[in-house]
Amino acid sequence: MKNDINWNFDNSYSKLPDTFKENINPFSVKNPELIVLNKNLATELNLNFSNIKKDELSSLFAGNNLPKGSHSIAQAYAGHQFGHFTMLGDGRATLIGEHVTNKNHRYDIQLKGSGKTSFSRTGDGRAVLGPMLREYIISEGMHNLNIPTTRSLAVVKTGEEVIRESPLPGAILTRVASSHIRVGTFQYVAARQRKDELKILLDYVINRHYPELRNSKNKAVELLNAVLDKQVDLVINWMRVGFIHGVMNTDNMSISGETIDYGPCAFMDNYDPKTVFSSIDKIGRYAYCNQPIITKWNLARFAECLIPLINPDQDKAVSQATEIINTFEKKYEIKWLDMMRNKIGLSKPEEKDKFLIVDLLTWMHQKKADYTNTFCYLMNEGIQKNNIYKDADFLNWKKRWELRLKSEDITSNQYLKLMKNSNPFVIPRNHKVEEALKATEKNDLKPITKLLEILKNPYLNQENISDYRIPSNSDRNYQTFCGT
Ligand code: AMP
Ligand code: MG
Repeated sequence: MKNDINWNFDNSYSKLPDTFKENINPFSVKNPELIVLNKNLATELNLNFSNIKKDELSSLFAGNNLPKGSHSIAQAYAGHQFGHFTMLGDGRATLIGEHVTNKNHRYDIQLKGSGKTSFSRTGDGRAVLGPMLREYIISEGMHNLNIPTTRSLAVVKTGEEVIRESPLPGAILTRVASSHIRVGTFQYVAARQRKDELKILLDYVINRHYPELRNSKNKAVELLNAVLDKQVDLVINWMRVGFIHGVMNTDNMSISGETIDYGPCAFMDNYDPKTVFSSIDKIGRYAYCNQPIITKWNLARFAECLIPLINPDQDKAVSQATEIINTFEKKYEIKWLDMMRNKIGLSKPEEKDKFLIVDLLTWMHQKKADYTNTFCYLMNEGIQKNNIYKDADFLNWKKRWELRLKSEDITSNQYLKLMKNSNPFVIPRNHKVEEALKATEKNDLKPITKLLEILKNPYLNQENISDYRIPSNSDRNYQTFCGT
């Protein structure tokens, strides 16, 4: 492998005690073929793939050839999956190392679908093309929506079949993250009841993600506060754009505050707080409206792990942790209201705004109005005449809103600017994602290329994209499946 790619590995996690990981290389695959490469992300990472031939890139992103300086591991973690605790770990991924950019930013480079590890349990360690491309599309979409997320650098087909209900094309996704440390990582270490190991993890996380806490009097308390704040911001961003994660298990909650693990996630079209897409989420545990509640629940599991480090007196530690966890609702409510205010162009808080916002949402729910497009309509950026917006209740609401806007004493340019930063014109609509994935199965890369291009500028009213802004008609029946 030529070494002019600029890889600059410094693998700090692999130097942690053996408890935290297994040293393991990705398994070679038969016939790797590069399907997509994220050139923008490569540039951001200061990586240069332009002089590398396609077959070399294919074998690099398949893990057949590891770059110089990498040290490949599978990370140990646990997790509450749908409420049930399990010891997990990277069962089908290897972290090939941490790349440090010329701007001194550190990123995990992980190959997802790279074969069995000691954490694979009954799984085959492999991933399927469709779900890996889906993760690529949606994670990049989220990034362009200005929402913290893991990124996707490349997808390769392995040239091998993966057996699910039927044989499917195998694939490997190169995932880039500020780290893959999860709430579940803490749960794994805490379950071993070794305070010394927990302390190592705490210090590692603070050094890597929250260096400003290095000199805190009580690092565990401060970390809990910091992670809570990050997660409040994250879930509010999801609510802002109608994103439904789908599997908010504690192993899928990142300590850095990035959206991680795109399985059965999808974007809501018509506004319905109970929307659930995942076929396995029968009771709607991870429905749109439950996301903040589950975030808090997951943070409480995180807090439990930190108890031994918060205070030697367990009762005191529990009460300190509880106090922090109970700040969630108030913080969430304040920030949610601010976020929703911005969506309707308001910047100066007023007590009654909550009613104005809730009334709009209630109307959208009753009329099955599209969440994204309703805000576009309010910005005069609707795509089609829709009789729904002639509804008397909506027109009444609009009058109240216009009066409220007047009280802000700002120009329409000013409030529209605020709205345009909060309300995307285009999101990865389910029908467009499916269309792109189906075409790729037939080796037609045009739809996925076009979709990815359009999703680069979600806050710009791009020409000729009306098709991408239409809701999926059959949305109520749309189902997503785990990244199998
Ligand atoms: P996920 O649903 O992707 O969050 O995965 C949950 C757990 O199952 C993680 O420990 C994964 O590594 C593991 N896992 C998922 N799919 C497979 C597979 N095909 N083979 C082995 N482990 C898997
Ligand atoms: Mg996971």
